[in-house]
Amino acid sequence: MTGQTLAIGPYGDQERAALMSELGAVHLPGPEGLDRLAPENRAALRAVAYKGHAPFGAAEMDRLPGLGLIANYGVGYDAIDVHAARARGIRVTNTPDVLNDDVADLAVGMLLAQARGLVAADRFVRSGDWAAGRDFPLQRKASGARAGILGLGRIGREIADRLAAFKMEIHYHSRSEKETPGWIFHAEPVSLARAVDFLVVALVGGPETAGYVSAEVIEALGPDGVLVNISRGSCVDEAALLDALETGRIGGAALDVFVNEPRIDGRFLGLGTVVLQPHQGSATHATRAAMARLQRDNIVAFLAGRDPLTPVA
Ligand code: NAP
Repeated sequence: MTGQTLAIGPYGDQERAALMSELGAVHLPGPEGLDRLAPENRAALRAVAYKGHAPFGAAEMDRLPGLGLIANYGVGYDAIDVHAARARGIRVTNTPDVLNDDVADLAVGMLLAQARGLVAADRFVRSGDWAAGRDFPLQRKASGARAGILGLGRIGREIADRLAAFKMEIHYHSRSEKETPGWIFHAEPVSLARAVDFLVVALVGGPETAGYVSAEVIEALGPDGVLVNISRGSCVDEAALLDALETGRIGGAALDVFVNEPRIDGRFLGLGTVVLQPHQGSATHATRAAMARLQRDNIVAFLAGRDPLTPVA
């Protein structure tokens, strides 16, 4: 197997060691390093273990003439040009399901943090304001509110299940109505946003969902509404969101993902109604290990001539 797998991206030490010991992988920090590989080594490569958000498209694939599989680390594979891969007969896999719990946990944590002012409350204690006898301002009740899930997929469903346990009325929008325990379906996102207090975005990223949370959706959510996004920054019209946050036309936001990560728009930093997270939805030791395991299992299966376990193309 040695020399058939190229690991690309910011892997941790343990992940890189496993890729080397199990697959004899060669490692590059990013796709821009492809040209540094000798042509004969590039030609021998059959699988790429991909990690990160840098685009991996036709130009990169064409540098690897023997490539048959791109195994993505992560369920969201919008960095990979799947159409270009299909056109070249290259399979693509991702790591679904193993991260659902962590991403849903974070979404709920962010929602509660925004509603109850947890970040400001922590600062209030540390600053000595509490000890000095001041009162922390009253915050907003979360239990029993109306929650909207935009994209009732694997992660969206886990979020809805959790919020239902907070006695919330669950609304959702997907491209088609799903079987649910009585959750309220909306055929389009503006109607969903109008109906709820908290709107949680759990869509896939990529060109088809770019700007799905449009200026109209944000207006419909309104001055008491809160947007929670754990999907991709591209799913939200970020300029419209920033304008609405700055003028109080939306109540607040809790965001794990942004358009220009990690160098996010500086206007977010000055907003007290926003909870900001560093794209850490799946970032626990256990889940990252499970994602890395599934990525390697996909490559092992492919190199052994079997079907990959979790293909997307
Ligand atoms: P999933 O099961 O495929 O669900 C994706 C949802 O997106 C579905 O509800 C689907 O709608 C919707 N969707 C797909 N294509 C669409 C289109 N063209 N137009 C409108 N809606 C569309 O995916 P998942 O496993 O839940 O993951 C969702 C996303 O979460 C990932 O793609 C990734 O970007 C993001 N994520 C973020 C983190 C993080 O660290 N913050 C971690 C993991 C994943 P239907 O219901 O109509 O099929």
